[in-house]
Order: sequence, then structure tokens, then C-alpha cells
Amino acid sequence: MAMNIKPVPTLDDEVNEIRLATADIVNREILPNENKLWGWVSDSANAPNEVIEEAKALRNQVQNNVKKAKLWAPHLPQEFGGMGLSFMQHAYMNEVLSYSPGAASLFGVVAPNSGNQKILVKYGTPEQHEKWLKPLTEGRWQSGFSMTEPMNPGSDPRSLTTRADLDGDEWVINGHKWFTSNGHAANFYIVMCRTSDPNDAGGQNDKMTQIIVPKDTPGVNVIRGVPVWGRASSHCEIKYENVRVPKENQLGRTGTGHQAAQDRLGAGRVYHCMNSIGAMWRAFDLMIDRLMTREVHGGEKLEEKQFMQGFVADSYMDIQSARLMTINCAEKMESGADPRTDISSIKVFVPAAFHRVVDRAIQVYGAMGVSGDLPLAGMYQGARTLRIADGPDEVHKILIAKNILRRYHGGESWDFGN
Ligand SMILES: Cc1cc2nc3c(=O)[nH]c(=O)nc-3n(C[C@H](O)[C@H](O)[C@H](O)COP(=O)(O)OP(=O)(O)OC[C@H]3O[C@@H](n4cnc5c(N)ncnc54)[C@H](O)[C@@H]3O)c2cc1C
Repeated sequence: MAMNIKPVPTLDDEVNEIRLATADIVNREILPNENKLWGWVSDSANAPNEVIEEAKALRNQVQNNVKKAKLWAPHLPQEFGGMGLSFMQHAYMNEVLSYSPGAASLFGVVAPNSGNQKILVKYGTPEQHEKWLKPLTEGRWQSGFSMTEPMNPGSDPRSLTTRADLDGDEWVINGHKWFTSNGHAANFYIVMCRTSDPNDAGGQNDKMTQIIVPKDTPGVNVIRGVPVWGRASSHCEIKYENVRVPKENQLGRTGTGHQAAQDRLGAGRVYHCMNSIGAMWRAFDLMIDRLMTREVHGGEKLEEKQFMQGFVADSYMDIQSARLMTINCAEKMESGADPRTDISSIKVFVPAAFHRVVDRAIQVYGAMGVSGDLPLAGMYQGARTLRIADGPDEVHKILIAKNILRRYHGGESWDFGN
């Protein structure tokens, strides 16, 4: 079933055109070829070479057409080869391109490269742009973001203990990270390091620095890809042992690492939520397709069963509420209002709604729902993982409650209209 995208009356012509052009490529070139584009992934051990080659050729072809349609790299400014979209335009485009899992990579957006590219754009010097960003945007290189540590809670990044100490003109890095996504393929990592002691003067948020570390630097020891959801993965465990890199590999001023991580996550959470909404939209369409075609007990279609009608209504409400909350949050961010309570709210609500919507679709498909023949099983794992990554649910709920209670303690109540 094709994604049904029509112009939204409240959006300007440019965003509507971008959404229609994106849907055109998703519907004509990606959806009908999903099995060829990605099919080998589910049975990669047995995939014949020609299947892998065909998939690569097809992906190149779609990527070329995306470039011709000027839809390449929506997250990057034009001077770095991207579309130069505004924040809202990018958010609205994500919802469309995420209808097909994996399609984002065909539009030049691949995590964690995309997040690293944005940080390099914002914090990098012209020399760093030339040396690290250019090969990344041209697709010649890969990268990873190395922040989380096995021995410390990733939900509180100020707890991390990987150190970088200056020795002359070099940073010397020692630490133990894991879940560095894309770790095997990466040419370099952006490593979050502690560059001042917790007891030194200054705020705790000003004691981290992000440093670029080429993977082939002596002392970078990739221990393993940590298996995820029962499968081998490229989320790597890495030990940095006396790793020496030039001082000019640091991103931004010393002590700006925490802020850079916040910059990466803030807008990123809106984009991730719009991605989840695109995926929910697909799960919803798949569910309805099955309800309208599958006959059960006595020749009735599933759609005639009230249990199933309940699924339709519940999923509709989940998607609409998740979508409107996310758009409202994005509009607040765009207007310059304080969006923190809303960012945390969507970070909790949207993955949970995504989880419920996909869960219902899986139930409707029975065994096929958990098979690799549909994108639902992958979506389910993705939705569950989102409740942990980029800040777990509980941490965001604490933030929501603190922000709200602070307002009431200050003598003001909450204004839901603003
Ligand atoms: C698939 C995947 C990819 C990832 N990719 C990357 C990556 O590329 N780079 C990177 O650096 N990291 C990455 N991560 C790591 C991710 O960011 C962390 O897992 C996340 O920040 C949580 O940290 P933690 O796992 O150490 O959990 P912890 O911080 O130990 O938290 C564990 C649990 O404790 C509870 N909890 C925590 N704090 C509180 C609190 N204050 N009150 C109540 N309960 C609390 C929550 O339920 C939480 O889920 C990835 C993770 C996954 C799963």
C-alpha cells in the first residue's frame, strides 16, 4: 500500500512540495523494491552474491534519483551538500521518508553519521570540516559517537569517566565505552571525554569535551560488536588505551562537550519522533490491509470483529496524539519558547505509542507479524530500544515533573495553551 500524502493546508507550498516529492520516491522506487533493497539482510548468511550486488545497484540507483530530485541530506546546509532545510521542513520530511524502514539511508541520512555531521558543522573549524566532515558527507567515510560506558550510567552523562589529558600538543585518552553504533565501519569516532575533574572549579556540565579519534590510532581497541536483540551488531565496545591525538582534534572549546551532546539530542529527538510517526503510519496501513483481507472463523473478515475495530481506533488515537504532540513541540522550539518539558514528553510518549501501534499490527498478522517478511518485527525492536536510547523514559519523566513543579512552586500554574 502506498503512503497517502496530500498537501497539508496549514503548511507552506515548499514543505508540501518536499513531502510530495519524497512520497513519490518512497512509493514508486522504495516500497515496491523493499525485499530487493533489504531482503538479503534477514537471511544474510545465505544470501548469494548476486542478490547482494543487485541490492547495492538498486540502492545506488535510488540514491541517484534522490539527488536528482534535490532531496539528498535534508539534515545538512547546502554548502555541505545538503538541502538546507529549516528545522520544521526537515521534521515534516522525516515523517514521510520513514514510512519505509531504511529509506532514510537512501536520502543520505544515516545515524550516527548524520548526528556527527551536524555536530561537525556547528562546532568544527574550517580545517575540521575539510578533514572529517567532507569525506563523511561524500559517503567515503563512516563515523561513530562514543559516549556511553559500561561501568557508568549513560542516563547521566556527567558520570562518565573516560579521561583526556593534555600532554604538550596532544590529548591522551583513556577509557572504556560501549554501544558506539557503527563502530566496526567507522573511520573515526567522536569521543566524549572528561577534561576536568569533578571537584575542579566550574559547573559539572562544563567538564567534558568531544574529541575526534581516528579508528586506526594506536590504543583504539575495538573489543566486539555487542549483540543486540539476539543478533550480532555494530554497536561496539571499545577500549581507549593511551590514545594520542593532536589537540586540534577537539571539537569546539574545551568544556563544551556536554552542550554539544545536548545540541545533538534536542532537535534530534523531534526528528526521531517524526521518524517513529512515519513508521507507525506504515504499521497502521499494514494492519488495516490485513484486517480488510484476512478471513477468519466462518468467512468473516477480521475488520468485522470488534476486538479488531478496537485496535484500529486505539492505533488511530496513538498516532494522532503522538504526531500532534511532536508538531506542537517542534513549533515551540522554532518559536524560541522553552521546549524542554515538551521534548521530554515526546521522548517518552512517542516511542510508547509506536510500541503499542506496532504491537497491535503484529497481533493482527499472527505468525507473519513476527517474521522477517514484514517490517513489523524490526519496528517493534526499534520502538522498544527507543525507550532506552537518548535518555530512558524515567529520566525524562523526572524532568517533566521537575519543570512543572518548579513553575507551581514559583507561584504560577501550568498554561497548557502556551
Ligand atoms: C541500540 C542502541 C544504540 C546506542 N547507540 C549509542 C551510540 O551510538 N553512542 C553512545 O554513546 N551510546 C549509545 N547507546 C547507549 C544509550 O545512549 C544508553 O543506553 C542510554 O543513555 C542509557 O544508558 P545506560 O544503558 O547506561 O542505562 P542506565 O543509565 O544505567 O539506566 C538504566 C535504567 O535505569 C533507570 N534509571 C536511570 N536513571 C534513573 C533515574 N534517575 N530514576 C529512575 N530510574 C532511572 C532507567 O529505567 C534506565 O533504563 C545506544 C543504546 C542502544 C540500546
